[in-house]
Amino acid sequence: MTAPLFIFDLDNTLYPPEVPLWRIVDGRIERYVRERLGVGDEEARKIRKGYLQEYGTTLRGLMHHHDVPPGEYLEYVHDVAIPDVVPRSPALAAMVDALPGRKVVFTNGSESYARRVLAALGVEGAFDEVYGIEFMEYVAKPSPYPYAKLLRATGAEGSRSLFVEDRPENLLPARDLGMFTVLVRGSEEESFAHAVIDDVCDLPRVLPGFLGNGRFRHGVGPGAD
Ligand SMILES: [Mg+2]
Repeated sequence: MTAPLFIFDLDNTLYPPEVPLWRIVDGRIERYVRERLGVGDEEARKIRKGYLQEYGTTLRGLMHHHDVPPGEYLEYVHDVAIPDVVPRSPALAAMVDALPGRKVVFTNGSESYARRVLAALGVEGAFDEVYGIEFMEYVAKPSPYPYAKLLRATGAEGSRSLFVEDRPENLLPARDLGMFTVLVRGSEEESFAHAVIDDVCDLPRVLPGFLGNGRFRHGVGPGAD
């Protein structure tokens, strides 16, 4: 029996949307498209929207249509003074530390960006591994590919995994693999997630639904597994 696996999205999940980091990155993505393709604001937004619909990420559309090197793009869009924007969160560190299993980050951002965000939050030691867009081979969430690859890499079973995300569409492939899905800050009515929380630090409140439903017949806790 493998230990439970706790999988966390990064942006707007490990920190709340009041922290403007994702908005800053999003603005840099827009700027990259404008400068790289030599287009104005409106055209850049239109192109991005099309790429997001067709490829899931702006990066994948740029790679496909404009041979953009992913390393160059990621370095540019993630070039943000993260510690100036993201406050430390001792509450998050304590919550993650207390979870009875392995904990990983699963993000459409680059691994080095994710590690810098975790360092700013003061939780870099709380996670066992960080799986970024390079691990996904640039096939981002919600494509099913990286979810299956994540389970293979961790050796975890879907039914013994929990996934926390702020974007409902990114929870769907996780649910299809049998994972317990937790939406951060969604509306319960329109969500298919197993649980909805206002803040990632509220996760322990919904854990009984994951740990106590027969998935873990032998119990979970320090020393279990
Ligand atoms: Mg997110």
